[in-house]
Amino acid sequence: MKIDSNQLPELIRLQQLLVEATKLDTRIRQLQTGESAEAIRVVLLEQSAKASQMLADHEEVERDVRRAEADLELVENRISKDKQRLAVSSDSKVITGIQHELESLAKRQGELEEAQLILMESIDQSNLEQEAIQLERKRLQAELSAATESAALDIANLSTELSTVNGEMAEIRKAVSAELVELFDKIRVRGTAVGKLKDSTCGACNMNLTSTAVGQLSAVPNDELARCPECSAILVR
Ligand SMILES: [Zn+2]
Repeated sequence: MKIDSNQLPELIRLQQLLVEATKLDTRIRQLQTGESAEAIRVVLLEQSAKASQMLADHEEVERDVRRAEADLELVENRISKDKQRLAVSSDSKVITGIQHELESLAKRQGELEEAQLILMESIDQSNLEQEAIQLERKRLQAELSAATESAALDIANLSTELSTVNGEMAEIRKAVSAELVELFDKIRVRGTAVGKLKDSTCGACNMNLTSTAVGQLSAVPNDELARCPECSAILVR
């Protein structure tokens, strides 16, 4: 095939641009799947589930507190009634009975007050934990929108870069002869389409060519196409 040897370096550039375009395209697709945001979304969901569980636990403790309050109120009412009865009683048997009851009521009152303290402590603790988890969720939501924004920006930048690369490739394809471009595309399907011949090494397959092969290649005139006998790549001499 007759060629304009000045067009060959353009094919090397075209080959580099193709690699670059593939890389850019892969990165854009990766970003479009939103994988960076997805990881945050998963953690956020876990935190939300945890927050709901904590709220349910918290409500249960609050029910326990109300129950303890009601119990305590009953005991206190009973104590005040007993004290009134004691004040007006003169029968020593009745008095002893009331005093016994007051003793056990005082004990019960103490127990309920202690239980109430413990419950109040766990409510305080639960409030702190819930505040912490809400803060963490806010932080994750901010992180999620930042990740989404930065991915969108990256996609926009990479797309601009890709269209520049595509534009340059289109220019090269117009500038190089159609026959050469066609051959380039045909070889490219199988592997590297073009390489520089450096001493006796093919830049496409990195094979060391035999001196016979190198001799044959040197005999190919400059305006004729030379190809690597090992990988069939177009050689730039
Ligand atoms: Zn080769």
